[in-house]
Amino acid sequence: TTDIRLLCSGQIITDISSVIKELTENSMDAKSTNISIALQSDGLKQITVTDNGTGIPLNDRDLICKRYHTSKIQGVTQLSTLRSFGFRGEALNSICSVAGKVTIITQTLDEPIGEKIEFRPNGEILSRSHLSVGIGTSVIVENLFVNFPVRKKFQESKLKKESKEIQKMITSYGVANPEIRFVFRSDPSVTILKQIAKSFEDNLVAIFGTTLFSQLFKIHYVFKEIQAEILCFIPQNTSDLKILTKSRADNQFYFVNKRPIQGSFFAKIINKKFRNFSSSRSFPFVVFMLTIDPSEYDVNLNPKKDNVLFHNKEILSEWLEKTFSEYYIPKQK
Ligand code: ADP
Ligand code: MG
Repeated sequence: TTDIRLLCSGQIITDISSVIKELTENSMDAKSTNISIALQSDGLKQITVTDNGTGIPLNDRDLICKRYHTSKIQGVTQLSTLRSFGFRGEALNSICSVAGKVTIITQTLDEPIGEKIEFRPNGEILSRSHLSVGIGTSVIVENLFVNFPVRKKFQESKLKKESKEIQKMITSYGVANPEIRFVFRSDPSVTILKQIAKSFEDNLVAIFGTTLFSQLFKIHYVFKEIQAEILCFIPQNTSDLKILTKSRADNQFYFVNKRPIQGSFFAKIINKKFRNFSSSRSFPFVVFMLTIDPSEYDVNLNPKKDNVLFHNKEILSEWLEKTFSEYYIPKQK
């Protein structure tokens, strides 16, 4: 519909990590508790994301890869109450247009047998056949950018950096979702695996290990003025700090309603307070989760949706300034 068009701002599939991001978020939106991501040739040859979610309803399948087809919202007015990752209905269509081939295997609870569907670059169906795989969805993306030599070359030139980014992204999703088991395989390398965890803390131990976890301090705060809550794990304010990281991207995880966020004002404040305190130039390990009413912010800034605009930013930043000034008191020299 025309409403949905308003939400769309161009190209979202620029690299392998954006394919993985979109497919993984679709799996999470489908209420999966088990998500597996597998790459062949670092993803250039094949990207497969398999989940045990709801599956794609039979009636939706004709349209699933068509532009602006989404089952998640009916119009822009619903954006302010949105809880899902997706809402533009662009991702599958864009992936089809830049991949050599896209295949979806899916089965819902209502069906005795699943279906395997192959799509054309314009999102139309090329073939369908029955296949039994169990409830859930598998999306297979082959030969990404095969008809886009410039983009393919560029992607090939930054594969190492890209694979670091992918690891960080999947780790982020793992951190934010204790209730989901994540499997990541990049052939021929080993599987990285996180089982379902009972609590947020257990989950951090499962991902980062007990040594790191034991050096963390937990801050939990519920705001009164706005519907918001912060859960944060940061290095303890002792002199014996082992969990410093050189590069900011490596070991800092910021989320707004489970959505990983880049370059936020939270990061700036926390890093500043920590550096004053530790008098080092490194960045601390941080897990920072803001849970906030969707009407309090806008994620619809760019297609990657990894930046946000808050209506009550002052309330949040004041709390951060105060809390972290009191926690990380610089030592007297
Ligand atoms: P969006 O996520 O913005 O709605 P997408 O192009 O990513 O758009 O997906 C289109 C639609 O396909 C979704 O709205 C959803 O109904 C369906 N879909 C995609 N992936 C899955 C999945 N793994 N499980 C169930 N449904 C899915
Ligand atoms: Mg989506």
